Amino acid sequence: MRKTTLVTGGAGFLGSHLCERLLNYGHEVICMDNCFTGNKENIYHLMNNPRFEFMRHDITFSLYVEVDEIYNLACPASPIHYQLDPVQTTKTSVHGAINMLGLAKRVKAKIMQASTSEVYGDPTIHPQPESYWGNVNPIGRRACYDEGKRCAETLCFDYYRQHNLPIKVARIFNTYGPRMYMHDGRVVSNFIVQALQNEPITIYGQGEQTRSFCYVDDMIEGFIRLMDTEDEFTGPVNLGNSGEFTIRELAEKVLELTGSKSELIFEPLPEDDPKQRKPETKLAQEKLGWEPKIGLEEGLPRTIEYFDAYLKGKLFDA
Ligand code: NAD
Ligand code: UDP
Ligand code: UDP
Repeated sequence: MRKTTLVTGGAGFLGSHLCERLLNYGHEVICMDNCFTGNKENIYHLMNNPRFEFMRHDITFSLYVEVDEIYNLACPASPIHYQLDPVQTTKTSVHGAINMLGLAKRVKAKIMQASTSEVYGDPTIHPQPESYWGNVNPIGRRACYDEGKRCAETLCFDYYRQHNLPIKVARIFNTYGPRMYMHDGRVVSNFIVQALQNEPITIYGQGEQTRSFCYVDDMIEGFIRLMDTEDEFTGPVNLGNSGEFTIRELAEKVLELTGSKSELIFEPLPEDDPKQRKPETKLAQEKLGWEPKIGLEEGLPRTIEYFDAYLKGKLFDA
């Protein structure tokens, strides 16, 4: 059945891939974004599709549209961007969630909230199961993002309990792929761009901290499967790849795959930078029948290809 779907943050990295996938399934898609970290370039290839509509709007203000489903992705996701205007970051998560939940309630839509592994903070349990309550510094520089997302989760569950709203909370772990913003400071895009330009690879700290990297196509499949679960299933559910790598290992893989001559340089570790992160993914396997299929060996070359074309100024239909 054709549905009308609202994707907030739809001009961003994950949002643009999601819009594309939903259109391929035959749905109507309203892509709402204020283009803070997203970019119309990401959705140019969708603009001529009659079932696609782009709306420039800031989610901290109310929005009146008629939709069947809402994927709430609007929020800057990289530390340098969410720390640029931390008050706006909290507003985007908290006021944004209130507005989207209010909209969902009025039109009786299902809503999926893009939460994050950052709700676990600097975790003391490894790997992180959904039952872990986290270890977040509430007054640090990452708090605008972490606490904003935690509060958005709280709001989802209160709308669920108070108003019977069908909600789905996805805790997204580090995801990478084509259309990541080149200058947003995230580790995969930084390393690839540095390697392709033979500039030094900036490792923060000693590079012993770990992350688990999920390729974008796997993540989008997870979103869609989560939205399609029965109404009783709310999550939160971890979505991520359980392959865990140190940041140094990632740098070495990028060097190998690009054949770059870049040297590794070491810079100070940012405040509250989590030391290790890896999702426990049993719940996603059980409830969504979902498991990531694309490892770094396959996903990194695709991402390198995208950035290589982008840097050469080639229009790239990723
Ligand atoms: P992104 O920065 O590419 O996309 C976010 C989009 O939200 C951008 O297009 C931006 O312009 C838009 N936006 C920001 N503030 C807005 C506002 N006030 N009103 C309307 N639009 C606004 O980041 P992404 O990686 O695509 O992340 C998408 C979502 O997934 C975010 O909610 C993020 O927190 C979450 N997430 C992503 C990752 C990851 O590794 N990519 C990990 C965990 C969680
Ligand atoms: N809202 C919106 N679109 C709608 C319905 C509501 O943006 O179609 C916003 C509106 O700003 C409202 C918020 O969602 O303040 C919360 O709505 P809710 O109905 O839960 O609460 P109330 O209207 O009582 O504040
Ligand atoms: N990082 C790094 N060099 C960079 C960018 C990031 O060593 O140029 C590190 C960062 O300190 C963190 C990890 O890589 O430990 C992942 O950073 P990212 O910003 O991509 O995501 P997050 O910290 O939100 O997981």
